[in-house]
Amino acid sequence: MDAALLGTGGMMPMPERLTTSVLVRSEGRMLLFDAGEGIQLALKRGGLGIRGLAAIAVSHLHADHVLGIPGILMFRAQADDPGPLAIVGPPGLERFVRHTLEDLRYRLNFELSFVEWSEGAPLALEWAGHSLFWEPLDHSTFCLGYRLEEATRPGKFNPDAAAALGVPPGPLRGTLQAGEGVTLADGRRVEPGEVLGPPRRGRVLSFATDTRPCAGLARALRNADLAFVEGMFASRHAAEAAEKKHMTALESATAAAEAGVSRLVLVHISPRYRLDEEPLLAEEASAAFPGVEVGKALETYAVPLPD
Ligand SMILES: [Zn+2]
Ligand SMILES: [Zn+2]
Repeated sequence: MDAALLGTGGMMPMPERLTTSVLVRSEGRMLLFDAGEGIQLALKRGGLGIRGLAAIAVSHLHADHVLGIPGILMFRAQADDPGPLAIVGPPGLERFVRHTLEDLRYRLNFELSFVEWSEGAPLALEWAGHSLFWEPLDHSTFCLGYRLEEATRPGKFNPDAAAALGVPPGPLRGTLQAGEGVTLADGRRVEPGEVLGPPRRGRVLSFATDTRPCAGLARALRNADLAFVEGMFASRHAAEAAEKKHMTALESATAAAEAGVSRLVLVHISPRYRLDEEPLLAEEASAAFPGVEVGKALETYAVPLPD
């Protein structure tokens, strides 16, 4: 699993910074978080393709997060039989997309399905080995943070235990490592629990932008191995951040540190800051989260394994 950052800005696309959007790739499947104006340009520029895009997860119905959806759908409709696409997000999202498609007389060569957030349904999407959860945040309109969890992995293989049980190096050990029992040449049975440590949790990737610090943000970020979080404002604009229901870079870093995030990437940077001012945001945030980075467009971020 890795993540390519398509844009890093907030509010509106700028010549040097498209709006914030993250493309997650895992086992041949792609999931896009948010789609602002012109974001398909970044997919093309990065040669990332479109056919594997299976789902779009939307944080909220503000222009800088959704105006790129029609363009993405049109781009995808140029692929040969691209297969179904799921779009998940806040209530009202399906109406917005369907009206746009109707008014613009779009012809799609794939099936579109929608899941809109509702109270008491914490799971947005699920597919082989992956679960996507959503959490309401605290913004000027209803907004969702996301947390993508990989399924639990088998425990660590213990070669000493395997040797003591007489399991020879080779395919039998591979089978045990994959979580299946084996029969040895002398007829004895060895179960995976005898040679594997406790199951290990899968990786967690979080995406949370356009919010004040809140309980939903903390839940979305909890123990994330990689988190993309808005760091829209420098501390000198803290009052404006609070008034507009956004966070300063330092507020994001504080929330991420408290939630036990491993790697933090700041996104949704205000258009008022030039690219050469971004290091200041990282510097302010590093007081709470050493090693915090400001996201770079078209950079690929590996999601570290938790152990
Ligand atoms: Zn925004
Ligand atoms: Zn917003």
